[in-house]
Amino acid sequence: MRRKIIVGNWKMNMTKILAKEFLYVVKEKTNTESMDVAFCVPFTLIGAVKEVLKDSNIKVGAQNVHFEKSGAYTGEISLDMLKELDIEYCIIGHSERRQYFNELDSTVNLKAINILNNSNIIPIICVGEKLEQRQNNTMYDIVKGQVEKAFENISSEMASRCILAYEPIWAIGTGVTATSGEAEDMCKYIRQVIASIYGKEVADILRVQYGGSANSKNASELLNMPNIDGLLVGGASLKEEFVDMTN
Ligand code: PEP
Repeated sequence: MRRKIIVGNWKMNMTKILAKEFLYVVKEKTNTESMDVAFCVPFTLIGAVKEVLKDSNIKVGAQNVHFEKSGAYTGEISLDMLKELDIEYCIIGHSERRQYFNELDSTVNLKAINILNNSNIIPIICVGEKLEQRQNNTMYDIVKGQVEKAFENISSEMASRCILAYEPIWAIGTGVTATSGEAEDMCKYIRQVIASIYGKEVADILRVQYGGSANSKNASELLNMPNIDGLLVGGASLKEEFVDMTN
C-alpha cells in the first residue's frame, strides 16, 4: 500500500519572516498521521523552515539542483550544498524550469542520476503535457517520452525511490484542475510506463502525484483515486487551506 504524499511547492514566494509566521500556524494543524507532508521551499529559506518544523513530522525539500558536482555554474546549487542542509526531497524538471530555464528531459535525467547516486534525497520528477498536446491527443506519447528519458540509466532499485509528479501545464497556476478522471487516467498510464521499464514490482512501489490547481476543495476527490498517490501543490501551499488538504 503506497502512502500518500502532499508536497507544497512554494516556488519563488515567501521570506523568512512570512514563512515562520505561516508555518507556526500550519504545523499545529497539519495531519501527518495518514500521509507524508513536505514543503519544497526556496534555497535561502531551507534553514529557517527546517528550524520551525524540527518538532513536527513535516519534511523539507528543495526545488532544483545542478547535475554537476561543483564548478563554474554561477547562480546554481549543488547536491553537496543541499546535503549539508539535510533535506528530504528535491523537485526536478518542474514545467516552469523547463519553460523559463530551458530545462530538458536530458538534464532532468542527469539531475535524477546525480541525486540518486550520491544522496538519500528523494527526487520528485515532474512531467506533463501542454494544452495543445492534450487538445491534439498526443499527451500520452509526450508524457511517456518524458518519463522514459527521465529514467534512462537508472536502476530499478533507484527508480523505486523516486516520486513522479504528473503536472499538466494547462492546470498549473491556472485555476483549471484536471478532472479526477483525467488525472487518474494519466497517473495510471505513467505507472504502466514504469512497469514496462522496470516491471510491476517497481511500478507498485513508485508514488505518482498529481499537480495542477489542487486545492482544499478538490484534494480529497483526487486523493481517493487509486493511482494518485499524492499532490504537488503550488498556490494553495502558501495558504492555510493547505492544512485542510491533509485532513
Ligand atoms: C506546481 O507549481 O507544481 C503547481 C501544481 O502549482 P499550482 O498548484 O499553483 O497549480
